[in-house]
Amino acid sequence: MSEVSQSKKQFPNGQRSDSRDTGSIIFVVALVLVLTGLFLIFGENFTSREVLKQILAGGSLLYAGYVIYHGMINPQRKTSDLSVRDSDDDTALSNQEPETSKLKNEVVDGVKSSVLSFTDTSTGLGNKQRFLEKFKTLTNQIKSLPAENQYSFTVGIVNLDGMKPINDLFGHDGGDRVIEQCAMRLRNAIDGFGFVFRNVGDEFFVILPNASDHDEVQRIGKLLQDVLIAPFDIDGSSARLSGSFGFALYPEAGDTCDKVIANIETALYHSKRKGRGRLTIYSSEIETAVRENAILEQALRKAISDNNIAPHYQPIISLQDGTLLGFEALARWIDPALGFVSPAKFIPLAEERGIIAPLTEALLLQAAKTAADWPDDLFLSFNLSSTQLVDPSTAKTLLNTIERAGLPPHRLEIEVTETAMMSDPEIASQIIEELHNAKVRISMDDFGTGQSSLGRLRELKLDKVKIDRAFIMAIGEDKPAEHIVRAILEMCAGLDLTVVAEGIEEIDQAESLKKFGCHAGQGYLFGKPQDANRTMGYIREFRRIASSDRAAKVA
Ligand code: C2E
Ligand code: CA
Ligand code: CA
Repeated sequence: MSEVSQSKKQFPNGQRSDSRDTGSIIFVVALVLVLTGLFLIFGENFTSREVLKQILAGGSLLYAGYVIYHGMINPQRKTSDLSVRDSDDDTALSNQEPETSKLKNEVVDGVKSSVLSFTDTSTGLGNKQRFLEKFKTLTNQIKSLPAENQYSFTVGIVNLDGMKPINDLFGHDGGDRVIEQCAMRLRNAIDGFGFVFRNVGDEFFVILPNASDHDEVQRIGKLLQDVLIAPFDIDGSSARLSGSFGFALYPEAGDTCDKVIANIETALYHSKRKGRGRLTIYSSEIETAVRENAILEQALRKAISDNNIAPHYQPIISLQDGTLLGFEALARWIDPALGFVSPAKFIPLAEERGIIAPLTEALLLQAAKTAADWPDDLFLSFNLSSTQLVDPSTAKTLLNTIERAGLPPHRLEIEVTETAMMSDPEIASQIIEELHNAKVRISMDDFGTGQSSLGRLRELKLDKVKIDRAFIMAIGEDKPAEHIVRAILEMCAGLDLTVVAEGIEEIDQAESLKKFGCHAGQGYLFGKPQDANRTMGYIREFRRIASSDRAAKVA
């Protein structure tokens, strides 16, 4: 192995880094933050009404840049030497005058050893015990004030996102080093207006004694997010992560430490659910949303295991000759307690809670069994969720499932979205290729809503594009939307792609689309999604009408 390749490490997301690059990457990120900060403060928008906000945002970026740069040029500044101050900010032990009397030395030793028991040894930050003490001291101080002088302050929790791949790649020592660097960055960033403590693992507590409203918390939270985004140095290799944040205000969000901790955890949970690097400030709405989601999740898990979610089928019709082409399977769940729950709600929840794979398999098995009983010329179109496009075993699982159901692969179409394709384009392309090789067709769903790229459409071996309902709804009323539909149709004709228009509700829309050359349509005009039995009835009725039409034409 060459010297260069030895000093490089491959990240799971494909990121590579060179030992000599790391310092400069951190420096560049710090510089970019500083320059963006300067631009926001002194840039051309200086005269705008948002000027104060811009200065604050700019100042925050400047400061984040400074903190990262400062951490970079002072790597030897161990947090442990900050710890005495951090752990005992009020007494400032390090600044005490030397004492001659033995008694005083013993007292200082005693205090120091108790300080150590309040210190997290690896980061040098105060530990959870210290956080609880600080919370108590602050609340006692506030309670001792006359009612009119009592004030609010903020408590927060930070949980690092993306530690698992770092631990996998660099081992636990490498992971610990990243946590130490995070501790130092957070500590440096917060210096002067707050305190940071290590809870456990990759989690920190924060106390902001002067942050008494949501704007202030957002501003400081943003600063803390910014200082975590620059790469971290592990033996010359670089690693990146982000932090999820949950904040709550005392006493609004709870007047005891237990309540405040429960609420920052609720806010953190909400942030994590939204994805990486999010910040949530606790409110009763957040609490309700989190509680409702917990109830929904329990009900969903039960519905999946009881096989209570069934596919319904919505017809797809040729706009050119009026024939029935196939059906899209759409998941339907009616919970005994919650009633009808939209798939737009439970599918993302199933993805997020990691239970989409068994749900998809059960739905596809049912749908494919149903479709196997339809006339051979009708296809089944099935939605694939985004999380499944990052799992290399997806194609195999899908093919096995339809084989078990007795549906030949050429009668299956898989609908994917552009955003889903972007999570891991390499694996997504590989899944699509495997399905293609097995003769399964692929359509791009909700086209026009994501970052549609012509180049991507060409690269991916797609067969079909489904134009999102939003554009179809606007036909006849909104000229620009109509132009977009016509442009998509022209572009797809050039790329030899079939086009399905979604959400057709009016006959006029269908006629315009036919005139523009759109191949197929789907929507309430042709039929709502219906269960397997009714769908079979729909097929028979459709065929009966079509054959009587033919007979009438012959006669
Ligand atoms: P989608 O794939 O874009 O599905 C089309 C949605 O539009 C369906 O909503 C359908 O009922 C609705 N729709 C169809 N025609 C019309 C119309 O003329 N007017 C109006 N207003 N709406 C129309 P639905 O069934 O609520 O599904 C919502 C989304 O949930 C779907 O959007 C799809 O993204 C997801 N979904 C549904 N079933 C599944 C599934 O089995 N697996 C996965 N991964 N996602 C699913
Ligand atoms: Ca779809
Ligand atoms: Ca769609």
